[in-house]
Amino acid sequence: MTTSAELFEQACRYIPGGVNSPVRAFKGMDRAPRFIERAQGAYLFDVEDNRYVDYVGSWGPMITGHADPEVLDAVRKRLDDGLSFGTPTAIETTMAELICELLPTIEMVRMVNSGTEATMSAVRLARGYTGRDKIVKFEGNYHGHTDSLLVKAGSGALTHGEPSSPGIPASLAEHTVTLSYNDLEAVEACFEEIGDQIAGIIVEPVAGNMNCIPPAPDFLKGLRRICNEYGSVLIFDEVMTGFRVALGGAQAHYGVMPDLTCLGKIVGGGMPVGAFGGSREIMSWISPLGPVYQAGTLAGNPLAMAAGVTLLNKLREPGFHDALAQRVDTLCAGLEARAEAAGVDMITQRVGGMFGLFFTHQTRVDNFAQVTACDAEMFRRFFSRMLDQGVYLAPSPFEAGFMSSAHSPEDIQKTLDGAEKAFDTLGR
Ligand code: PLP
Repeated sequence: MTTSAELFEQACRYIPGGVNSPVRAFKGMDRAPRFIERAQGAYLFDVEDNRYVDYVGSWGPMITGHADPEVLDAVRKRLDDGLSFGTPTAIETTMAELICELLPTIEMVRMVNSGTEATMSAVRLARGYTGRDKIVKFEGNYHGHTDSLLVKAGSGALTHGEPSSPGIPASLAEHTVTLSYNDLEAVEACFEEIGDQIAGIIVEPVAGNMNCIPPAPDFLKGLRRICNEYGSVLIFDEVMTGFRVALGGAQAHYGVMPDLTCLGKIVGGGMPVGAFGGSREIMSWISPLGPVYQAGTLAGNPLAMAAGVTLLNKLREPGFHDALAQRVDTLCAGLEARAEAAGVDMITQRVGGMFGLFFTHQTRVDNFAQVTACDAEMFRRFFSRMLDQGVYLAPSPFEAGFMSSAHSPEDIQKTLDGAEKAFDTLGR
């Protein structure tokens, strides 16, 4: 049997860092990444056939668990008809109608292949529609690796200590204004100064790429008000939160309506899919209807649409999201109780089906500066000890955790039992 460590060594010869997305490398965790062979329900199985209760869920899409039989069946049924045609297909309209129904702020939607493409296209559209260049984003929010948005970003860019990347021209980055998350006063001050140059604000309505940080009360409402006042486009990046914190995403959860919404992850059911959409008025600026160019050879791929449509329909089951949030509550309350019993300073933050663990003596974590002040070494030890006990957490203190409906009470109990042991030895 070839072990994960051997496979990683081989991979590193041919793939930069051995991975096709940086955070998978377990950098900073002092361990080789696990090579996963298969997954089922709440579990990942590595090449050594170790089983892990998985709280990464392929970074979000697997909200009903891995290898959901209905999703797989839908893909299987279409497989023999061909993989891609580069023409319109009926299932693209089925998907578009479904998205418009579930997120009423979306009247028209364009499918793309990733969350990065969704945010890149939404920003271009906001710039084209307003005729302005500047974009406001928030420190530690990650919107994929498009140039304009990889400035003081979260997720892997944060884990790897490169908030902004070489290769992004300063002349482009200067059009991106980065402010502190949850600081409405800073947004107001910025708009007072240059509001007439700002095409839009892009925001993660729950920040999930610097751990899990909910919006402060009235933060999102304030962004809405400011955008209305200055004629700027409010873009919610719901790549992570969409269909997860509520069926209608964070916009339904908090009752704040953006002009444009970016989607990804769940919308593709595990296939490479993203989407962006909004009002008919703004979306009419997209090519071929309007002048803002946007395209994709594989966009709206029929197999990907089949997976996504099937998964989204499953999430409409009444009570699905309440039950998911209940599981998150049980897990987080259990973790906090065990940390306290062991004398470990740790808090959790959660919204719907996503959560985060912070090793800190603060009672709340609201922004990037506070996240980076948390104890990363304690997280590393906790992560490693949980992995040894068959619990797979995101390998970084800057990533949110994801629950699925496949996580049983026994899985959560196993996680809590593991955490109890881990907390007891954290000081050592
Ligand atoms: N936006 C958010 C909020 C994300 O969490 C991510 C990825 O994690 C992206 C955009 C980029 O999506 P993708 O990795 O599919 O390009």
